[in-house]
Order: sequence, then structure tokens, then C-alpha cells
Amino acid sequence: MPTGKVFSRPARKVTNFLNSLIDWIYPPQCTCCGKEPDLCPFLCKECYQKLLLFDNTPDSIVYHKDHPADRVKAMFYFDEILQQLIHDIKYRDASYVANYLGRKVGEYYKLSEFSQCDAILPVPLFSVRKRERTYNQATCLAKGISKEWGIPVEERWVKRCRNTNTQTKLNKEERRKNIEGAFIVRKKSILPEHICIIDDVFTTGATTMEMARTLKKAGVKEISILCLATPLREGKRKI
Ligand SMILES: [Zn+2]
Repeated sequence: MPTGKVFSRPARKVTNFLNSLIDWIYPPQCTCCGKEPDLCPFLCKECYQKLLLFDNTPDSIVYHKDHPADRVKAMFYFDEILQQLIHDIKYRDASYVANYLGRKVGEYYKLSEFSQCDAILPVPLFSVRKRERTYNQATCLAKGISKEWGIPVEERWVKRCRNTNTQTKLNKEERRKNIEGAFIVRKKSILPEHICIIDDVFTTGATTMEMARTLKKAGVKEISILCLATPLREGKRKI
């Protein structure tokens, strides 16, 4: 009797052939400059080397006097390359870019306190927004990180119950008020001791801080926040 294994090899061959055909018809290009990608599937060597490692606590943390997180870091500086990549992730269906960058973040922080968490929670999108975009970019990042750390992603534990998408036009105080009470914890009874929250960009931190506050109120003892990038200029250096 045939098994899945017997058929898997030819199926893989067909998939590989189709992928090569697609690459031949549409050769892969660097997302930023259009050259042939190198070192990474969507960036050429030059653009990849322009990525700026931040690996620090974003400066805007000072605006959160009562800040509930035990540690906060962003890996990259939000420069024009990261801006382009995040734009592609959000608006051009490039979830594989988020997944790849998530693996890079996971690799980089593999031996840190962040990877000592019990669960990884991406910042949830409001349901309507998620339907529009079909996926949550923070979840794709979180899944990449999860592969490196071997820690589960729990995207259903926290729900975003309000649409707070007008954040960009608000100042720090208005952002905080706008986001207040925007999250609810669904699974209070099973929350572990240490949760790592994942998001793409840490700007004022209003969103991730509110999620951390909500989780602490629900009984989580330790909260880490890890983001892909932050727009601050302090402490930047090349990777
Ligand atoms: Zn390039």
C-alpha cells in the first residue's frame, strides 16, 4: 500500500522544478535596489550590509515611568532598508520576509534572557485589520524566533479588542490613552511565569507597554519585549 513517504519525493521534485521555473521567469530581486539577492533571499550583499544593528533598549522607554517590562530591546535601527522591508511585510504580502527576519532575531538572542521565556506572544492585530492583511506581521516574526528558541508562539492568549490604528498622528500621551484597555487576556488560568512579547517596530512603545501592563495585571511575573527595529538614532553601529 503506498504511503505518504513514497509519494513525497516526486512531489518535492515537482515543487523544486516549479520553484526553479518561477525563478527563471521572475528572477529574485533585492527588495531595495533590484539587484540579484545575496547572503539573504531578498537583499543583495550591499543592502544587507547596510542594516544597522541597534541591540539596545529604545530611548523612548523613558516616557514609561511605570514601565511594566523587565527588559526591552530592539535588534535593528529602523533605517530606510528596514522601512522598505516592513512596508513589504505589511502591504505586499511578504510574510516570508518577516519569518526570515524573525529567525535572525531568534538566532541573535538565542543565549539571552529573552530566550528563557515560557511563551512567545506576538502583539495581536485588531480582528478587522487582520482580515484585511490576512496575516499578522508580529506573528510571522514570532514564528521565526520560535524556530530558533524552541518555545511556542501563543497568539490566542491575548486579544486586541479595539481598533487603535490611528496611532501615527497622535503624540505620546494621546497614544497611551488611545491604547489603554485595548487588550484582554483570554487564558488567565494558564499564563506562565515569563512571557516574551514580539513586535515589529518599537516607536513610543505605547502598544507593547500596554500589552505588558495587561499581562502583568493578569498575573505574569516576568515580561520581556523584543522588537525587530526602533527608529531611534542613539547607539547605532553596523553589523
Ligand atoms: Zn540591494
